[in-house]
Amino acid sequence: MSYFDQMDTQDYEQLVFCQDKQSGLRAIICIHDTTLGPALGGLRMYPYEKEEDAVRDVLRLARGMTYKAAAAGLNLGGGKAVIIGDPKTMKSEALFRSFGRFVQTLNGRYITAEDSGTTVNDMTYINMETNWVTGIMKSKGGSGDPSPVTARGTYNGIKACWNFIADTSSLRNVTIAVQGLGSVGYHLCKMLFKDGARLLVADINDVNVRRCVNEFKAEAIPPEDIHKVQCDIFAPCALGAVINDTSIEELQCKIVAGAANNQLAESRHGVELKEKGIIYAPDYVINAGGLMNVYEELAGYNQDRALKRVDQLFYRITNILETAREKNISSKAAADVVSERRINEILNVSTIWTEAVKAAGR
Ligand code: NAD
Repeated sequence: MSYFDQMDTQDYEQLVFCQDKQSGLRAIICIHDTTLGPALGGLRMYPYEKEEDAVRDVLRLARGMTYKAAAAGLNLGGGKAVIIGDPKTMKSEALFRSFGRFVQTLNGRYITAEDSGTTVNDMTYINMETNWVTGIMKSKGGSGDPSPVTARGTYNGIKACWNFIADTSSLRNVTIAVQGLGSVGYHLCKMLFKDGARLLVADINDVNVRRCVNEFKAEAIPPEDIHKVQCDIFAPCALGAVINDTSIEELQCKIVAGAANNQLAESRHGVELKEKGIIYAPDYVINAGGLMNVYEELAGYNQDRALKRVDQLFYRITNILETAREKNISSKAAADVVSERRINEILNVSTIWTEAVKAAGR
């Protein structure tokens, strides 16, 4: 399928190819939809084997950001960028400053941030060339590491799911199996432990496991078994595609709610979870705390304001679970409905003429 055909099928606005021979930059910026605001989405650096792989990835990820921002109630559209190259060997100041220059040419239609393969330091270089970058260091007025905030959003989402079935948001004596004890998983465990939850934990890194066992009285489970344990809530915080044809048969939980991206191997697994009577917190909604956090940088970062917004995830997840029940659809489908509804409603609002529109010459 041609790139225009691919853009046409899912209503993409813009695909920008950027090259700078000197620094070796080959980047693609994709803007999916700007109905709600400028397209914000991270910059991924990955050694894609083929150019088509990079295009496919950036298109998929940018559209995902449109839905994520809409569900999070943010005035942001969806976008994403990729740099084709190995982050271990190809990074340089010039590479990121050159990328920053291309971002600047879009004049705020696209706002970048960290993603896999890029770091806060890389954002500092980009920031030398453009202000359309978020996820920068706290010392430079940014919001710093998003992981504790993502964990807090996930914690709120877990409480919403539990409240939905148990009519209480208290997690005292609730058994929660956490898969992945990295940046998000560790902070999540800390909050769950404080709330009185009983933790079962797994990670392929023993140091991370021991830390949670020692600090949170967690019980260590072999990584290959963590999704199979009898528990109230299974919280995937490591990999994508953990809910697949094999694992779905082995789940012994009432709820799947965690921070990992792309938890469902395919959308149909969301339907299968529903059929098995398992509540699922759609990943792109429950893990939006990090996006909410960087969004606050646009108006001058204020942590209290960011955390208040993140705590609203309790109600956002509840709303999606209620929509799913009302319409008798999967919660993943309900999240898409809620996102699309908001985009369409706000699109309609933009047809109302105001003085500000006149001043902008429209
Ligand atoms: P991380 O790399 O810090 O932690 C991931 C952890 O998972 C590591 O400790 C790793 O050893 C462990 N792991 C890997 N394979 C495993 C397996 N098979 N079984 C058990 N553990 C395994 O990453 P993170 O920043 O904590 O992010 C976790 C997930 O949340 C990812 O899917 C990420 O995309 C998603 N996410 C993170 C953020 C954020 O703010 N960091 C925001 C949104 C989504």
